[in-house]
Amino acid sequence: MLDGFDPTVEGKHLYDLRPLVPADDTLKEDVICIIRNGEGPTALLCGGIHGDEYEPQVILRQLIDEIAVEDVRGRLIIIPTINPPASQRGSRVSTIDGQNMNRSFPGNAEGTGTERLSAFLHDVVFPLTDLLVDVHSGGGDYFVVPMIFGFTGPECGVDEAGLDRIMDGWGYPIVQYVEGIASTSAGASPLVGVASVEIEGGGGRAVKSSELAIMREGILRGLHAYGVLATGPGGMSRPPIRVAVSAENNHAAPSEGLIEHRVDLHDRVEAGDLLAVLHPAAGRTGAALEIRANGPGIVLRQRARFFVGKGELICGTGNLRM
Ligand SMILES: [Zn+2]
Repeated sequence: MLDGFDPTVEGKHLYDLRPLVPADDTLKEDVICIIRNGEGPTALLCGGIHGDEYEPQVILRQLIDEIAVEDVRGRLIIIPTINPPASQRGSRVSTIDGQNMNRSFPGNAEGTGTERLSAFLHDVVFPLTDLLVDVHSGGGDYFVVPMIFGFTGPECGVDEAGLDRIMDGWGYPIVQYVEGIASTSAGASPLVGVASVEIEGGGGRAVKSSELAIMREGILRGLHAYGVLATGPGGMSRPPIRVAVSAENNHAAPSEGLIEHRVDLHDRVEAGDLLAVLHPAAGRTGAALEIRANGPGIVLRQRARFFVGKGELICGTGNLRM
């Protein structure tokens, strides 16, 4: 457990996460911050579960500085970087055990470094929480449009209609509907009574100020709409585009190769439209493979690197919901 950890005290308190990762004694300090101001719901902002997704980590660390105790109604928990052994080494997955933390839930308090961090979130922090906000971005491998999706369950204090209101309150351009995965943070929390939203945006190895601004405003607007922050930025006037995503929306590489994208993020496509061509990475011919859309939709996610391995995602789309 963390030194002096007491999530019930009023005020703003920070606790060092390093005792959770005894396998690596070279880590610099990363923290969990708890801001409590009277009675009210508890929201948990969590970033860096994928270590190389830095937009959330930059924003959440700034919010620890900026959000004052009197701005909060209830309790706000901020963990800028829940996966220090990945984040501090520029890696998506843990450098201790090679595990993808977002496939390691519910975790194991006696397990590997990644499993211990997951178990802390699942066993210690989720029981304090009413709404999990799991913040992701494209990281090193993808460009992603700003979008939000969420999950709830019978034990959660937020029903489906309430979840839609929370997601609409974010003011993001795209709300996505997708099946939850129980080994992810946002998929595991509803199983223990904690509704969740996951937000995406940015990526491609560089942090862009325009994408930081969208993510930051969305977080502040969403937390205000939920009631944990007393004030927030104004809402966006346009209603979000709602999309459904299933396996057929993932257009993967049939072989390894070099991607040339033929569409941009947010583009509308029809079935059969050319999404990308895949150039050979070696050999005597330059003949390229065509990657065509499985169905109509909107482009949500694109691989950011030129080289792609067999089976890796090239382009992800979403089907418009009427
Ligand atoms: Zn991620």
